[in-house]
Amino acid sequence: MAKELVPYALEQGNPSEAAGVQRWRWQQDGDDWVKTGPCPRCKHAISKRLVMTSYLTRPAVTGDTDKGDTGKTESARVQRLRLPAPPGTVSIFCNCGVSHADGKSGCGFFVKDIAGPGGA
Ligand SMILES: [Zn+2]
Ligand SMILES: [Zn+2]
Repeated sequence: MAKELVPYALEQGNPSEAAGVQRWRWQQDGDDWVKTGPCPRCKHAISKRLVMTSYLTRPAVTGDTDKGDTGKTESARVQRLRLPAPPGTVSIFCNCGVSHADGKSGCGFFVKDIAGPGGA
């Protein structure tokens, strides 16, 4: 018997589904933070990745620019900072990779205001 797929529907999860997603643990993958679990609607595995490179700060411009050439040039260093877990909330959409409708992957389930790894 073939497993039946739930039909695609863009639909926000109810509070108890949101609470379930909230409980999935954030895990660190390199610099990124990833949260994975089964989609409450279609039961396929879904994940949310926070790509931490977008949080890297640009190197600061050091020295006084109006002093002219002092012969001392600070080489621009791109610092890779070990950043704290980002606070705030994220939305998580079903991205199960299974086609629930033509041209769409995921079942359309989503939840909002899920606490980030650093807390809401
Ligand atoms: Zn699915
Ligand atoms: Zn789903």
